[in-house]
Parts: sequence; structure tokens; C-alpha cells
Amino acid sequence: MDEIRVGTAVSTAPGVSTGNLRTGDMPDGAPIAIPVAILRGEADGPTLWLHGCVHGDELCGTYIIHETLRTVNPADLKGTIVALPMLNVTASQKIQRMSPFELFGNGDLNRNFPGDPDGLTTQQMAYHIYQPLRQYADYLIDFHTALTVDVRWALYANAAGETGRKAAGVARAWGYKSTLPAPLDILGGSALMTAAKDGIPSFIVEAGGTGAAFDRDTVEDGAERLRNVMRHLGMLKGEVTDYGPQYDFSNFAWINSTRGGLFENYVKCGDRLEVGTKLGRYFDAFGDVVEEPESPHAGIVLAINNGPVMPTGVVLVHIGLDPRDV
Ligand SMILES: [Zn+2]
Repeated sequence: MDEIRVGTAVSTAPGVSTGNLRTGDMPDGAPIAIPVAILRGEADGPTLWLHGCVHGDELCGTYIIHETLRTVNPADLKGTIVALPMLNVTASQKIQRMSPFELFGNGDLNRNFPGDPDGLTTQQMAYHIYQPLRQYADYLIDFHTALTVDVRWALYANAAGETGRKAAGVARAWGYKSTLPAPLDILGGSALMTAAKDGIPSFIVEAGGTGAAFDRDTVEDGAERLRNVMRHLGMLKGEVTDYGPQYDFSNFAWINSTRGGLFENYVKCGDRLEVGTKLGRYFDAFGDVVEEPESPHAGIVLAINNGPVMPTGVVLVHIGLDPRDV
């Protein structure tokens, strides 16, 4: 078998190899080292690259990846899983979205691929991650979460030709009802779009919530859907589950809060919105209702802020636009 080497994780034979990928150094000189596991099957097949915690406080995917590493037997696997369950490791250590060492510029790891070896903290990190990703990945699945426990939607890079078709197949096998075939001109600098432009079919899962919105059921369900994707790719034996009809979106819109205060929402993930649908209500510090914000778009709720308090300038609602049955 050809060697697969991601940092100090080196795989030359069936089984699990673990190690770390150095993406920079801490202020004390210790390495910023991302955990890597390579699960190699006994038979040849595709290489599926999985990473979680691109945003350091989005841990649902980390647990889905762990569940997969624990339960997939190399004897049953055709191909290889390369898993980086805690990608933005310094952000995860602080239970926050971005690295605490990113002091300038835009520190969102998912806007900095393919990275720059001489760039800012996050750009260097992205560079060291993207080199082996581009070298080895036949497919990319990138795990994220949003605000509440009921978040379940997905997007794939809708690239031309084979790359887009293969990504659409992954999305269909994952089977979330709400899916965005994402146009390539959005989410610039994401691993999704960067890899797709390099011909790697790429897919993002948005499953579950951050912090107290973490949910074991979403993890179990996600792990089974991931096994279904591997069945679809021929990496595992068994019939591919058809999860039923989907909505495809044309795009999405983030609506930010322009008022602060105590907030209670009226809608939940998956609800259909019309223009003018009331999204919730703000109270002032005396308990009086001061505003009921309305949806500016028709679509489906992908994520909604759960309050109970809200400053201005945070995501109030994330809407999938123009849903159509497929
Ligand atoms: Zn995220």
C-alpha cells in the first residue's frame, strides 16, 4: 500500500494510525498540533477526508467522527478515512470560534483556505492543513454546527462536471431534507470551495448546536448518515438508505440583529417563512415587548437565534432561499 502521511500520522497498512499535524507554534514555542487519525481499510478504495471544528466551538462533528473511528472495522472498509476531528485546535481549547492567537485580520479558518505559509496565524494554519488535504482527499466532508439543537442541513460545492455530480451524490446519501447546491462564488476561502475548485467533491454538514445545544441523538444520526455516504461510495458494504425527498435552495441569507435586548424566537429550524413572518420578539429590561422582527425573505429556517439575550450584530436567522422539491 502507498504511504499516506499527514504530519506524524503515517499509514502504510490496514488499521488505525494516529499522530499530529503541526500548523504553527504557541507563544511558548510548543507546537500547535492538530490530532490526525488515518483509518486504512484492507481493500483499496477512495480516500475520504473528514474534519470537524473548523470553528472551534462546533463540536458535534468531532463526536460524529469519533463514533466513526470507533465503529468502522478496517476489515470492512474499502479505502481510507483521514480524520482531523479537532481542526482549529487552539480555538477549541478556548471553546470559541476562532484562534485566540489570531490578533489581526480575519481569523475565520473557513475563509482562509488555501492559506499562506508566510501569512497570519490562521492563514498559516490553513496552508498546513490544505497541503495534505489536496494531496490525498478524493472527497471532503467538513462538519459544522449552528445555534440550536435542531439544526440539520447541508451544502455541497455545485462545481461543473464530475466534481459537482459526485458531491451531489454525497449530499443525497447523507440525506438531510434541506440542502444547498452552493454556487462557487459564495463562501470564498472555505475548505469546501477551495477543494472543489481543485476538483475534490466537497460537502458541509451543519448538524446540531454549540455549547449546551450539543445533542447525542444528532451525533448518532450523523454517524449513521456518514456510514450511508460510505456505502454510497462503495467504502462499506450494504444497501444505501434513501432518506426521502429533499429541498434544494438557490442560496442562503444571513440576517443579523439590529436591536439588542432579551429575545424569544417564534420559529424553529425547518420552518417555512414568508416575507413578513414574525421571527420572535424582543423585550426591554422592564419586560415590555419592543419589537417583533420579521423575515425579509421567503424560505426555510436553517438556523435561528435562541436568545435569551442578544446584542446587535449577531446572526438572528439564517434562511435557505427559494426551496424547491427534488
Ligand atoms: Zn462553522
